[in-house]
Amino acid sequence: MGSARIVVIGTGYVGLTTGACLASLGHQVTCVDVDAVKVARLAAGRVDILEPGLEELVARGLAAGRLTFVVGSRQAVADAEAVFLCVPTPMGAGGGADLRAVEAVIDEIAGSLPPGCAVITKSTVPVGTAQRIRALLGRPDVPVVANPEFLREGTAVADFLNPDRIVVGADDEAAAQWVAGLYADLAAPSVVTDAASAELVKYAANCFLAMKLSYVNAIAELCERLGADIESVTEGMGYDRRIGRSFLKPGPGWGGSCLPKDTHALVQVAESVGFDFSLLSAAIQENIAQRDRIVAKIAGTVGTLAGARIGVLGLAFKAGTSDLRDSPALSVTAMLAAHGAEVTAYDPAVGGELPGMRVVDDPYQTAKGADALVVLTEWDEFRRLDWNYVAELMHGDSVVDTRNLLDPRSVLAAGLSWLGLGRPRAR
Ligand code: NAD
Repeated sequence: MGSARIVVIGTGYVGLTTGACLASLGHQVTCVDVDAVKVARLAAGRVDILEPGLEELVARGLAAGRLTFVVGSRQAVADAEAVFLCVPTPMGAGGGADLRAVEAVIDEIAGSLPPGCAVITKSTVPVGTAQRIRALLGRPDVPVVANPEFLREGTAVADFLNPDRIVVGADDEAAAQWVAGLYADLAAPSVVTDAASAELVKYAANCFLAMKLSYVNAIAELCERLGADIESVTEGMGYDRRIGRSFLKPGPGWGGSCLPKDTHALVQVAESVGFDFSLLSAAIQENIAQRDRIVAKIAGTVGTLAGARIGVLGLAFKAGTSDLRDSPALSVTAMLAAHGAEVTAYDPAVGGELPGMRVVDDPYQTAKGADALVVLTEWDEFRRLDWNYVAELMHGDSVVDTRNLLDPRSVLAAGLSWLGLGRPRAR
């Protein structure tokens, strides 16, 4: 396929990556957002999210004249061949996906879409949304296509350009094939199917990952109680190709902008068709319990949290991003503060003020006078801290490593104690 005229609506992690990558594949892309300040910054080549390679790709697209940024979708779509919806679909009241942003865009563009222009959901939307959009549009001449996105924050560009698969679904097969063709230059298998199946792939995949993490967190808890070591257990499990090595690391609970809302949304969708998805509900409950266990573990090292000084290393929901949405680190720090602890936190990608804690711009400041130091995000730089200096700064001697990130030997060599997840305590 040659170059297509594409409009991408929403310029967040997914929309901006989609726009910049599609432009790099030779398409003519207009990116739209309601946030005029963001649009002006992007038009000047300023990318405010931490995504390796994204700013360069935006700069190249702008310079080549293949990428533009505008406010307002009505005009932007007037001569488009494809419109990608990349707006938020957060958790609504009751746990289901809130589709108000999607509906607002549909309302805005319905009258100005040219005949034959494909409307494509890249946002994560529940099964049935393509059908609902078709009804809202009232445009039988416009195909609606589901094309869920699987990129991960922190590696968004690399994931978009080297995907494991491309999933496209529509009840109009020719439209689905045409959308799949937009990615023809990527070496990835495509799954071309009906709209409901494509919509469900995304939830089924994300919820599977959430269940895998809840499972490994529960196994880590069992390791602690049974005197086994999770590192050996997961190494032994990971060699099994049916299981694989990824998503087998215990942590303070899963979070981020996708897994929590997508798990709740699928439970709710299942309920709507009379199915009690108790397996998935249990994974959600296990994730809540994990945070409680982490807080109890930290409390156990300091006696009582009331008045304790806790240094926190890492706030983002995972390393490689500055995204704090639904970060388990934030839940844990909020719980520590609610129990009366004084929290000082550092994250290499996060600055500014946050409620319930003092955010500092140097990891060693978190150790100053701390009764315990807690690793909550797996940033590589925490491995390389000078533990002798940390020990000098700390008041207590406990390091709680909720990511099993550090080398316990270097922590111990400094005279500190190390407590990980599912591992024997090292003193
Ligand atoms: P985001 O919050 O980073 O970005 C959304 C953007 O949409 C914002 O810039 C916002 O200003 C804009 N917007 C909101 N309403 C708009 C409207 N009416 N018109 C135009 N622009 C509007 O969100 P995101 O993380 O990119 O997620 C978008 C969708 O993609 C969600 O459904 C999410 O579940 C899904 N998704 C996200 C990821 C991820 O890792 N973040 C991965 C795969 C799928």
